[in-house]
Amino acid sequence: MHEFSMAQQIFNIVMKVAKDNGVRKILEMNLEVGKLTFLNPEQLKFALKVLSEDTIAQDAKINIEIIQPEIKCNNCGYTGGISYSGPEYHTTYPIILLKCPKCGNSDIEVIRGRECNIKNIKAIKQ
Ligand SMILES: [Zn+2]
Repeated sequence: MHEFSMAQQIFNIVMKVAKDNGVRKILEMNLEVGKLTFLNPEQLKFALKVLSEDTIAQDAKINIEIIQPEIKCNNCGYTGGISYSGPEYHTTYPIILLKCPKCGNSDIEVIRGRECNIKNIKAIKQ
């Protein structure tokens, strides 16, 4: 499952950072998830909760901020948001052709919306 494998990656990074910094207890995990990742924030949260059981992160509050997509068009120079049709969330990676809302060209670059970042972690040190 898409969300679970992403949660596993996030969890591994959080645990590594916590270990490297001598963290005793993780209080909060703040994440940024781009809309174009098609991750369901509730499922991601749930997967992280499951992974956190019996660890220093078991009582951590998980906050997920959704990043709206933004593109740059290589044809007309448009930068900004896009609208796209299709389901909101997938359990597998979808293949979607994104188009410029101004000229309809598909020669675009995604500036924002595909990221899945750990913004910060609040924790108690030893
Ligand atoms: Zn364009």
